[in-house]
Amino acid sequence: MSPSEVRQDDSPRGAAVVVVGGGVTGLSAAWWLARAGVDVLVLEAGRVGGEASGRNGGGCSHHHSPLFAEEQRLWPLMDEMLGYPTEFAPNRIRIALTPQQLELYGRAVVNARRQGFEVDELDAREVRALVPLAGDTAFAGHYYRFGGHANPHRTVQAYAWAMQDLGGRLRQDTAVTGFRTAGGRVTGVETAAGTFGCDQLVLAAGPQTARLAALLGIDVPMRVARAEMIVTEPVPLMPLGGVDGNGLYGRQTLRGNLAYGGGPHEWVAPETLPGRARPASPLMMMIARRLAELLPKAGHVRVIRSWAGLIENTPDGRPVIDRPGGCDNLVLATLSGVGFGLSPASGRAVQQLVTDGACGFADLSSLRLARFRRLEPDWAALQGWQAMTMAV
Ligand SMILES: Cc1cc2nc3c(=O)[nH]c(=O)nc-3n(C[C@H](O)[C@H](O)[C@H](O)COP(=O)(O)OP(=O)(O)OC[C@H]3O[C@@H](n4cnc5c(N)ncnc54)[C@H](O)[C@@H]3O)c2cc1C
Repeated sequence: MSPSEVRQDDSPRGAAVVVVGGGVTGLSAAWWLARAGVDVLVLEAGRVGGEASGRNGGGCSHHHSPLFAEEQRLWPLMDEMLGYPTEFAPNRIRIALTPQQLELYGRAVVNARRQGFEVDELDAREVRALVPLAGDTAFAGHYYRFGGHANPHRTVQAYAWAMQDLGGRLRQDTAVTGFRTAGGRVTGVETAAGTFGCDQLVLAAGPQTARLAALLGIDVPMRVARAEMIVTEPVPLMPLGGVDGNGLYGRQTLRGNLAYGGGPHEWVAPETLPGRARPASPLMMMIARRLAELLPKAGHVRVIRSWAGLIENTPDGRPVIDRPGGCDNLVLATLSGVGFGLSPASGRAVQQLVTDGACGFADLSSLRLARFRRLEPDWAALQGWQAMTMAV
């Protein structure tokens, strides 16, 4: 998003709630807060959506989260609620190229069905009928009658504009460097542009959340991984743009480009600077090869863009959305790699934690920070989450 596309607030005034981080988590929270009539200010170090929130696969199907039901309820309503397009498109087809992939993908099906969501099983012929770019490599597939995908850039933009329409304020190029505290509460947020007073603070700074929380004496165990995506030339639009499998996630854009990412994700140093992740050709080539296997009738199209992004990861891969002990007026929100799809619901949860002290629509007990209290000091090494020494 270009800087001119969102209004910049240059006033030195603080707010009832200061949100640190202008990604989807912080912006959705700020939008929900503004909807609730709360005076809110978002402080963003760079540009809104400049990090993972504008660089992701756009997938909205997180059946393993306590926020899943709310994610699924909200996405079809988001364009109307925000007043701006997210390009959300419902449903998803996952193609398995081997019996092993089918078995792996079947676990998601069991979990989704258990929660009342429908999934159709497809044989290879049905996959080819529904996905014109699929071919002889298809073994079988699943048609999720839930989930879907949206355009990350549009969505970030929509949250920012919608929040501003409701009186919320946004300062870009305003990195938070510290906090003022008194009596166990944060009273101000320090930046090079001055200190912004607040009654409540929301920390939603993606991979930088742990570093900022540490300034308040709060330990958030996290590690940072670098992931990549490629975009191809446009190809004719498929009836359903949300097609993935073969270890890839992604979507077809409205213009017809195939935008896909996939592992392996590489661990990078926690201090890796936002905006510094760059694509590396071996990973790009691997993603492109797997895409050609998944959709062989698009195997001839050229890759025209690629990028990398930094993903925040907690030890168990689940978000932390919590009012942690140790600071009375703080809400932490870090989404552990599933933040785009969950953003409509995570923002509402954060809003309720701020305004009501608890989330009323979902049980967030599994997302509390305290679950990591007994973590081994060398948990990251034990999990093999070692930062690579290569340049990012
Ligand atoms: C390649 C890739 C593919 C992905 N695919 C999917 C997917 O398909 N579906 C899905 O749900 N998720 C996906 N994700 C994960 C998802 O993008 C993230 O979980 C989500 O964007 C996190 O949003 P966030 O707002 O919490 O963090 P971020 O997007 O990282 O935003 C945090 C913001 O905080 C700002 N910030 C940092 N430090 C400071 C500071 N000191 N002061 C002020 N601001 C600060 C940063 O500049 C940044 O803009 C993917 C991620 C990547 C990289």
